[in-house]
Amino acid sequence: MPHYNIREPAANQLLEHVKKLEDEDKPSVTTNSGNPVGYKDATLTVGKRGTTLFQDWVLIDELAHFSRERIPERVVHAKGAGAFGYFEVTHDVTQYTAAKVFSKLGKKTPVAVRFSQVAGEMGYPDTVRDIRGFALKFYTEDGIWDLVGNNTPIFFVRDSILFPSFIHVLKRNPVTHLRDWDMFWDMVSLRPETTHQVLIFFSDRGIPNSYRRMHGYGSNTFALVNDYGSFYYCKFHYKTDQGIGNLDADQATRISGEDPDYLIRDLYNAIASGNYPSWSLYLQIMTPEQAAASPYDPFDVTKVWLHAEYPLIPVGKIVFNRNPKNYFAEVEQMGFDPAHLIPGIEPSPDRMLQGRLFNYGDTHRYRLGTNNLQLPVNRPFKLHNYSRDGYGTLDSQGGAPNYHPNSFGGPESDTRARGLSPVLPVVGNASRYDNGDEDNFTQARLLYQKVLNPAERGRLINNIVMCLKNASEFLQERAIKNFSSVDADFGRRIKGGIQAQLHSHAHAEL
Ligand code: NDP
Repeated sequence: MPHYNIREPAANQLLEHVKKLEDEDKPSVTTNSGNPVGYKDATLTVGKRGTTLFQDWVLIDELAHFSRERIPERVVHAKGAGAFGYFEVTHDVTQYTAAKVFSKLGKKTPVAVRFSQVAGEMGYPDTVRDIRGFALKFYTEDGIWDLVGNNTPIFFVRDSILFPSFIHVLKRNPVTHLRDWDMFWDMVSLRPETTHQVLIFFSDRGIPNSYRRMHGYGSNTFALVNDYGSFYYCKFHYKTDQGIGNLDADQATRISGEDPDYLIRDLYNAIASGNYPSWSLYLQIMTPEQAAASPYDPFDVTKVWLHAEYPLIPVGKIVFNRNPKNYFAEVEQMGFDPAHLIPGIEPSPDRMLQGRLFNYGDTHRYRLGTNNLQLPVNRPFKLHNYSRDGYGTLDSQGGAPNYHPNSFGGPESDTRARGLSPVLPVVGNASRYDNGDEDNFTQARLLYQKVLNPAERGRLINNIVMCLKNASEFLQERAIKNFSSVDADFGRRIKGGIQAQLHSHAHAEL
């Protein structure tokens, strides 16, 4: 084993495995039903050159499983990397929430994470420009809490009715099966609410150099309830302790060819080397009175809550210290769902969140089956309800009755959870209110003018130009009009950049 000590940990996985076996007896191979296989290297045939017998169950057992190895990939966030670790409370936030996960200082809760790309399929290069998923699963004593976030505090559209269309424009044209920049810039420019996220997407943070070096955000607005029934709106932020790290567009393009799995490799090797990544969890809190008086809609996921008005409140630390034991079992089968909330944490009227509350569980029921929450990586510590049976049932709940009400000791309503359910007054006229014009540029302007330095602005403009130049001219004009509404000079520079590209193209053709 000459290279054992100098190769990356990921390359040594099989060597590590065999090392563990040194003191154990090597197991015999079996069929999927555990029956020992007498000979593994030849099928059962009639004579040396003869045909294979149908009774070769060893062959059929393996082939039949092989053709069922793949399941539908996620429609979005198909490619990802996972890890396991813990969350530890470092600050007291019980004045805001009664969620048991935050109940006392030093309390530790097991967590899982899945980092992902948004647009590309399973085999897509890791270093393309994209938003990154950053989903957390907390295995709490009150069941699973999934905080299904991204590495950006906002999203492109603010109403979930636009979500499937928006994902379509990030993906392939259904005729050419190619990414289509007319599709992308058409929808982006028709819905200027996308502008804020488009700026983050094309900024340096659009290509992280490591999943360890990006922040995470719950993005949607949630609500918290404390032990006294007080109610607050909240946003979750989890900031990297490793520092932000990004790739420039040229580096990223080169790495896409050299190592399409760059981000997965980086995470695996860091954890395997004992270099455990961590994040600090924060809350932003808004009272219902502040929400009612807010000049912008606090449930609009295309907007942040400004730090000066709603400062970050520290809560705890998240550390990942274990790699998956099996990628498929523990990462591909991991299912996150924003509807998995624990007492003390509630949804808000955020329209994107409301759609997600249905959509995520539904995709896992399709992808992994009805009983996906009984899979080891998804299952809560305790489960007592009236759901039974369906494909892949693992748990019959100890023979408890499967109907309610009953006289045989079946589980009853949880009084604590009931006490923590807020009574919300809801008044209004039901209608389809299009909120597409609600202040689409102020926060994008703050990002462009106040947050980004001149060099970052220059790279942002270049990244936009290199993409927008691929769109039809009328779409370029419409997009530039929106960028000019952020900042007139910004729009002018993008226009100039596109014209320069056209000139150089024309010269190249001469
Ligand atoms: P601040 O001026 O107090 O801080 C700027 C924030 O922007 C920091 O959180 C910083 O992250 C983050 N940031 C820096 N570069 C980028 C980038 N390329 N993409 C995304 N985020 C970046 O923020 P304000 O609250 O006053 O808001 C001003 C603008 O900052 C907003 O309009 C929004 O665009 C952006 N922003 C605000 C956030 C918020 O929750 N308030 C969160 C993220 C961005 P870091 O902590 O690493 O310095």
